[in-house]
Amino acid sequence: MRVARPVGLGACWLSLLVLIAPVRAEVTIRINNVDAAEVGLNDPTPVSPVGGNPGRTLGEQRLNVLRSAAELWGGLLEGDVDIVIQATFQPLPCSPTTAVLGAAGPIRVLANFPATAIDADTWYPAALANQLAGFDLHPGRAAAELLKPPFQDDIVVYFNGDVDGNNACLPGDWYYGFDNAPAAGDIALFNVAMHEFAHGLGLTSLIDETSGQTPLDLPDRYSVFSLNTTTDKHFHEMNAEELLDAQVSHDHIVWDGPATTRAAREILDWQSELIVEAPASLAGTYPVTRADFGPAPGVEEEYVGVELVNDRIGDTTDGCEPLEQELRGRIAFINRGNCPFALKVAHAEAAGASAAVIRNTEPGGALIMDAPHSQSRIPAVSISQHYSDTLLSALPRTDVRAALRLNPERLVGADPNGFVRLYAPDPVEPGSSIAHIDPSASPDLLMEPFLSADLDAANDVDLTPFLLQDLGWRLAEEPDESD
Ligand SMILES: [Zn+2]
Repeated sequence: MRVARPVGLGACWLSLLVLIAPVRAEVTIRINNVDAAEVGLNDPTPVSPVGGNPGRTLGEQRLNVLRSAAELWGGLLEGDVDIVIQATFQPLPCSPTTAVLGAAGPIRVLANFPATAIDADTWYPAALANQLAGFDLHPGRAAAELLKPPFQDDIVVYFNGDVDGNNACLPGDWYYGFDNAPAAGDIALFNVAMHEFAHGLGLTSLIDETSGQTPLDLPDRYSVFSLNTTTDKHFHEMNAEELLDAQVSHDHIVWDGPATTRAAREILDWQSELIVEAPASLAGTYPVTRADFGPAPGVEEEYVGVELVNDRIGDTTDGCEPLEQELRGRIAFINRGNCPFALKVAHAEAAGASAAVIRNTEPGGALIMDAPHSQSRIPAVSISQHYSDTLLSALPRTDVRAALRLNPERLVGADPNGFVRLYAPDPVEPGSSIAHIDPSASPDLLMEPFLSADLDAANDVDLTPFLLQDLGWRLAEEPDESD
């Protein structure tokens, strides 16, 4: 990769060298505000500056956030052709509890355009096609209105305008600060904008979810890396029937692009596992989900006893009261329910446990366990009812010995080959399936379908640039650590 950042002022002799070299520039991404006067991005409601956003009206603050997100993506990517994003605030589906926050996609896709090293008969989003061609394939002025022909803009993005000041549409409002510090319930527009813009840059599927058809029967570039591991076929190699089946084959649909797969090894957490060695009849590796609090398990297999807790009161195995037993380094096995996860783990820790396994007592998978203020010093994980019932069948009569550990060979959110899982729920979610990373990934990623409060896109866009790199985008050089 070549230099993509301007050389500092103190190094003028270097800038000469840069000037005669064929420097790849960061790509310029412009926001085309197509909202009518007085609404959306032109809303004149006076507001106070917030979180580094100096805007004095609602519309100004919204536009500032979109420009800032466009600038960040522009700095992460290389390209010679400006990108125009047509942006609007519109009412989108919303209720007091759920909302479509935004939607985006390429306005135009192109195939067999004049560029070397592109896949033949394959749709590319306009913004990417332009960079690969090296010039604007459809030059012209930006459109003055939303989706108005002749579609010279590259990307269209909608944000839900009903979120602000309307409690029939989520209790909170948009947050327009740049510091990722929304009040509880508010939603940082910056993170949502970064997500939506990435869809417009190419993280999108053109497959019609009800028919399995693609435009003119040609696949899109995104399909080239979308793989059904059951049939070992990529989406661009499938017919409509196979596509309909694949789009709901959760757990078997992955992204096998090389840049993303390489980056996932650095970005995704290692999988926690409970390895049982005794009794022999139960020996094996049991999947568990790590809590969002407390330390991680180690990578070594240290086998210790497993013990069902007893707190003497009510459900004696719920760990809601101080435990009767001394656990002396053993793994505490605890039922869910009746009190916070952190309290159960605290009681296990106080009794001397080396780790806590919280058991889902209801059908379904392992539990998502969060406790932001926990001071826990032992690892905690959750196990599904199915697997815990198997182990419970041996407790307390038999000595169960197990090791709770991290497996560096398995990534949370990737399949056994290290390929990142794509979102493929059954039934299909139109506009959402396949075009997102599966929410099982840990840490939470920008391109998951549901907004996570843990995102901080201004500082971390995790796997997203690498997904774009697999599509064909060139990434701008990352700043040197010593800069
Ligand atoms: Zn999305």
